[in-house]
Amino acid sequence: MAVTPASDLDARAARVLAGGTTHAVRSYQPSIHVARAQGARKWLVDGREVVDYTMGHGALLLGHAHPAVVEAVQQQVAGGTHYGAAHPLEVEWAELICGMVDSVEQVRFTASGTEAGMLAARIARCATGRDLLLKLDDHFHGWYDAVTVNLDQNGEAVPAPGVPAAVGALTRVVGAGDVEGLRAALADGRVAAMFMEASGAHYGGVPMDHEYVREAARVCREAGTLLVVDEVVTGFRVAPGGIQSLIGVRPDLTTFGKVMAGGLPGGAVGGRHELMELLRLSRPGEPAPDGPPHIMHPGTFNANPLTAAAGIATLRLVRDGSAQRTADAYAERLEAQVRSALQAAGTAGRVWRLSSIVHCALDDATQQQALSGALRAQGVDLLRTSAFCSVVHGDTELELTRVAFDRALQGLRR
Ligand code: PMP
Repeated sequence: MAVTPASDLDARAARVLAGGTTHAVRSYQPSIHVARAQGARKWLVDGREVVDYTMGHGALLLGHAHPAVVEAVQQQVAGGTHYGAAHPLEVEWAELICGMVDSVEQVRFTASGTEAGMLAARIARCATGRDLLLKLDDHFHGWYDAVTVNLDQNGEAVPAPGVPAAVGALTRVVGAGDVEGLRAALADGRVAAMFMEASGAHYGGVPMDHEYVREAARVCREAGTLLVVDEVVTGFRVAPGGIQSLIGVRPDLTTFGKVMAGGLPGGAVGGRHELMELLRLSRPGEPAPDGPPHIMHPGTFNANPLTAAAGIATLRLVRDGSAQRTADAYAERLEAQVRSALQAAGTAGRVWRLSSIVHCALDDATQQQALSGALRAQGVDLLRTSAFCSVVHGDTELELTRVAFDRALQGLRR
């Protein structure tokens, strides 16, 4: 493989990529540029090898370039990537999802998790005839306007730069865990839907009580507000039935992305038949459907055959729960190992885990900031300070990670 200095790419990227990057979370220095990935490893353009825990921002529960996914995509790409028409793969893909997630009777595919959220909001507003949405502070649902609103230090909901105040005003924000605040925010009957990461913000980075999730579902039901659980990260990763199956909550609508799309771009909204029915448009010559006005939802790449092929290959391999158990077992060992590394280095911090996602927070803010960079320099790439594990992480990766953590923590102390 030709070796390219990362600094050359950085200079070129700075000229032509906005902000020198393509994703807010990948904006760090020194940057890494990946040439190739396989299993649990990535190879950089300068020849270095990295143990990967970003795993496609959580999409790759089966690891990079899993043979079954590669074969499915290779076969499909030669057979066409867009038919501009219905195709059998989208039906099989939807059957798999409906078969795995209890609350999901029908799905509509989108091109990303962000789009899934946008569509869930549209469905909820259409079904309830209400304009407002509610989200939990710091919970992430993609980058669209309606959910890019959080509380400031004074507890005021503030939309992010570029989101009009008038749009931000349509989204109420309450603190996670605050049942009374939620009840008050829903009391006037104007909120169409409550959105939440049922894991707690950032895929369990800020854990949330399961009882709070169940109570929030009850409060929503009493208020006539639909509950939208964002399973973009947790769906199919923490269990075949998603985090909702572990908590014992039945959302009205669920948003999906990542694992369900097999590492290609895709997403979906799923839910009860009567809500998903709002997406049924009358065909020429048919009378208009009864009830609320129906929703026009196009999207060039909805259920594109390539993503569908990758999604099906992945879901077939994760549907019995054994893949999740394998990834969880590795993550459990990693969690214990990181905890020991902190202890051995005398670094104060916490390590915790949601299924196959290990989170780490150092008490010292400067050290916490520097941790992922220090690990990257030692050949281990986390998503911020969270490690997404997969079925292909094994003893070798665990040992490489141990050495990298020891060295990185030593470096941070100096
Ligand atoms: N919801 C959650 C919980 C996410 O973590 C993300 C992406 N990280 C999204 C939604 C948005 O998904 P996408 O990036 O596919 O638009």
